[in-house]
Amino acid sequence: MKMIVRISSAAHDPVLAKVILSTGVAINVDRADLDATSGEIVLEVPADSCARVANAFEREGASVAVLEHPIIRDNDECVHCGACIGICPVNVFTYEPDWSVAMDESKCIQCGTCITACPHDALTIEIEPE
Ligand code: SF4
Ligand code: SF4
Repeated sequence: MKMIVRISSAAHDPVLAKVILSTGVAINVDRADLDATSGEIVLEVPADSCARVANAFEREGASVAVLEHPIIRDNDECVHCGACIGICPVNVFTYEPDWSVAMDESKCIQCGTCITACPHDALTIEIEPE
């Protein structure tokens, strides 16, 4: 499952490494936005290890949220124009044989690119933790 984690003092404290070592869980980093004072990372974590990993991050002072629906589409607004297909870096959107646009939200890394590209404002990102 996708999980978003916000860490403070990321450059000085190897929080991610500590969580991997303490839990023994193979964590895949989908997106990382880190600087000297804080950081935000989107992770792919095995579903049966989510609670353990989230608890380990919280013990390190990070805020954590499991992304049940990382990208949300308003199907009343979507006109299946396809503008989101080519710009998504992880191929969340694809054409179906009938040229409707399908969506695999489980791939989304919350980069935000499609939000501004959609001409009908049909896409929103699930609210992230503070
Ligand atoms: S860009 Fe917006 S309107 Fe076009 S297919 Fe994607 S979600 Fe639908
Ligand atoms: S925010 Fe949009 S463009 Fe970025 S990964 Fe998710 S679906 Fe793709």
